[in-house]
Amino acid sequence: MELKIALLKGDGIGPEIVDSAVAVLDKIADKFGHTFDFTPYLIGGCAIDETGIPLPRETVEGCLASDSVILGAVGGPKWDGMAGDMRPEKALLGIRSAMGLFTNLRPAKLYPALRNASPLKDEIVGDGFDLLIVRELTGGIYFGDRGYREGKYGTEAFDTEAYSVTEIERIGKVAFEAAMKRNKRLCSIDKANVLESSRLWRRTMHELAEQYPDVEYRDMFVDNAAMQLVRDPRQFDVIVTSNMFGDILSDEASQITGSIGMLASASLGASKRGLYEPIHGSAPDIAGKNMANPIATILSGAMMLRYSFGLIQEAETIEKAVDSVLNSGLRTADLMGTDKGTPLSCTEMTEAILKVI
Ligand code: NAD
Repeated sequence: MELKIALLKGDGIGPEIVDSAVAVLDKIADKFGHTFDFTPYLIGGCAIDETGIPLPRETVEGCLASDSVILGAVGGPKWDGMAGDMRPEKALLGIRSAMGLFTNLRPAKLYPALRNASPLKDEIVGDGFDLLIVRELTGGIYFGDRGYREGKYGTEAFDTEAYSVTEIERIGKVAFEAAMKRNKRLCSIDKANVLESSRLWRRTMHELAEQYPDVEYRDMFVDNAAMQLVRDPRQFDVIVTSNMFGDILSDEASQITGSIGMLASASLGASKRGLYEPIHGSAPDIAGKNMANPIATILSGAMMLRYSFGLIQEAETIEKAVDSVLNSGLRTADLMGTDKGTPLSCTEMTEAILKVI
């Protein structure tokens, strides 16, 4: 395959970790006979410094003209004082909306080799868990009507949760398709015992489930789901849920893996083009020190191969190389825990993964 990939390195550790992902993708291209053509564009604080705004037009146009996008992270103390629309983080919402990305995929995997990083007890995590949260990204209460009005007790504020069948169907399809590519189990999370929008969500999911007889489907109330994630995370394969519930549950799921430098994410829209990024930020405290863990960004590259381009074997090659490196005991500083010894730098960890591939 010949693919054009836009790189949004951003700020802080962004350039270091994106360079690592590019090295790994180049290696995969060599091994499997593909051509990946990378073009960097400015975003965030570095874009403010060079152009005066966090999301220049060339960046948006470049992303829309590419087959997919890899993002490092944006922001840092240098730009913290900037107001509202001029903050580096504003560029994230801007690029997601320009690319029409309505789905957020967040895998939360506890690697057996990193079991000690999880705050959960051994008997709960067993030899690890591996789940995927599919969150609706452009609808629901974060985008509904809001405002102030006079109510029974005086001035009140309100926000509105609204979902259409179309919005539920399109996120539902992504989740069922993702389940088909994994262990064929899907749990839809809602609050259908209270919310009308959840009752429509549930009804629509049930109708979709009939089109995916191979997927074992069930519903769960969000309050129960918050408990089940810490009580028995291994029961989940794929979870699908609304924007706000997904926001909360995906952070809970990432915390129980215990290692922020390991977690990748994908944001997808109607086309194959996606935005792939680690869930962590720009880590200004370690920026420029060659200490960052590049694995979350490398795994974001693997997600891109799987979800945008259907290159499953290539994605698995990266994921297996990461497993193998961790199983052999190699660690970056953030993964050391109570281990003694010298941690690998960002570039040494990248080299170790390249060697396995
Ligand atoms: P952060 O995720 O950048 O860092 C939190 C802690 O985790 C820090 O101690 C950091 O050193 C560590 N860490 C993060 N990624 C790591 C990695 N790959 N390897 C090793 N250690 C890692 O969160 P923060 O400190 O709250 O935010 C820093 C800046 O990043 C802020 O400006 C914030 O707005 C921005 N931010 C950006 C994004 C994004 O670009 N998507 C997301 C979150 C925060």
